[in-house]
Amino acid sequence: MIFSAIFLIDRYMRCILPILGVFIASTTGILAETSQYSPKEALDMLMQGNQRYMSGKPSHSDVGSFHREELVNGQTPIAVIVSCSDSRVSPEIIFDQGLGDTFVVRLAGNVIGPLEIESILYGADALATPLIIVLGHSNCGAVKAAMTGGEAIRDIPEIAKKLAPAFKALKHLKEEHKQTPTLEEAIKTNVKYVRDQLRAIPLLAQFVEEKRLSILGGFYDLEDGKVSLLNN
Ligand SMILES: [Zn+2]
Repeated sequence: MIFSAIFLIDRYMRCILPILGVFIASTTGILAETSQYSPKEALDMLMQGNQRYMSGKPSHSDVGSFHREELVNGQTPIAVIVSCSDSRVSPEIIFDQGLGDTFVVRLAGNVIGPLEIESILYGADALATPLIIVLGHSNCGAVKAAMTGGEAIRDIPEIAKKLAPAFKALKHLKEEHKQTPTLEEAIKTNVKYVRDQLRAIPLLAQFVEEKRLSILGGFYDLEDGKVSLLNN
């Protein structure tokens, strides 16, 4: 009885919040101010979803027609995910999330330019999403091609240019220790580079300062399905 009551309240809140957001937007000229979730709560929801996915027991059922109809008038995603276009790295699947839960920006090599940044800003500002995760992955073909150069980047010259600054910094660091960068190091360095680019955007930095937003980097392992957060 208690559980069914909680379920009904949850369904009601999920239904009414997007409508309320649109109402506020139409009456005040602005969109949602804050999320119903803190950055930590949003992160916990994603990581728990990744655990379900890893264990082969995805349980998210919010993909049916009932939930689709609830979302017609608005969305309140819990996270903006900036990931690679790679077909093996679908954020909704690897975080076991349903319709309306993740606002996804995807480009090979998970790089960002003006258009991607606008999309991310829309997710963080207009939709008040409390979390941004830049997600790289093991064996990334785009990063591998950009490291190789020459003919390997004939299809992705602009993306290779976007990856170059992170490579340059990594190469410089490794040369100091007489080492050669590995592909995984390059992928992780690029994630941190993109994450730091986003952290430097004034509006996003303000949201972080106000503790209504976290901007994190993550690494997805194609083999075991685990997402690890990249610190520092
Ligand atoms: Zn990739």
